[in-house]
Amino acid sequence: MPDRKSSPSRIITTNSNTRVSTGQLPRRNSARQPSVDVPRPANSNTRVAPGLPARTPAGSQANATTRLSAVEPAFEGLRQRMVQGLRGAGISDERVLAAMSRVPRHRFVDEGLASRAYENAALPIGAGQTISQPWIVARMLSAALVGGPVRRALEVGTGCGYQAALMAQLTDHVVSIERVRSLHDQARERLRALRVAGVQLVLGDGQTGWPADAPYDVILVAAAGIAIPQALLAQLAPGGGRLLAPEGSGSHQRLVMIERLTQEGFRRTELEAVRFVPLQTGVQL
Ligand code: SAH
Repeated sequence: MPDRKSSPSRIITTNSNTRVSTGQLPRRNSARQPSVDVPRPANSNTRVAPGLPARTPAGSQANATTRLSAVEPAFEGLRQRMVQGLRGAGISDERVLAAMSRVPRHRFVDEGLASRAYENAALPIGAGQTISQPWIVARMLSAALVGGPVRRALEVGTGCGYQAALMAQLTDHVVSIERVRSLHDQARERLRALRVAGVQLVLGDGQTGWPADAPYDVILVAAAGIAIPQALLAQLAPGGGRLLAPEGSGSHQRLVMIERLTQEGFRRTELEAVRFVPLQTGVQL
């Protein structure tokens, strides 16, 4: 049985950017992604950790960033440069950009990688998995939000918890499922340290979704399967629910959007080529 756990706080979400891109580490011979030059912050080992700033309406994030800026100015500057890079790469949803300008991505990777956290790159998070590239996170969130207000969202593949934190900024309730216990536990600690509220973390195989809180206005899948699991489609809200998932395997993957227009009516749209880690079966304890 999945182990249902809640995080005490609330967050916000969205992200992303690159041409063919992804949830996975870039390959050695792949085209270089646009990235921000990142000087190593002087305080990268600092453990001073404020909670996330209060949630604010899109477009008025200035106050929200003040507190973090005061404590981690080097990272604040890098984060805003990342957001500018995302704008330049076609991300225009202000809600997503505001969330990405607030959520400290460097707090979701090991300290040794913190100085690279605001590059447009996937980075290792342990257990052979990666934190998705900011651009693709932003891309998926932006596409998901076009449909209208999002009250409930489901994420398959919590990983480090970064995207879940972004989603919490944009929705009332987020359920995020991870199959690897070490990642699930670590994400819980990270979200707790940042006082992100509104995220319910579940340890389990996300291919079956989480029927208890269905239907979802948005479902984001952060790992690529050969086909989108039927159970997830069944948990999508009729009347505009949107699912975004990478489909395919290895280097042949495409981001797919499924909209549930009515109880029985689904519309499928194929978006850009992407590269994500594989969707796997069962739980790894
Ligand atoms: N959203 C994450 C991305 C993590 S990478 C972030 O912001 O960092 C994708 C994650 O999906 C990995 O942690 C992997 O363990 C997980 N995963 C793969 N198959 C899964 C499944 N069937 N159920 C739940 N999680 C799965």
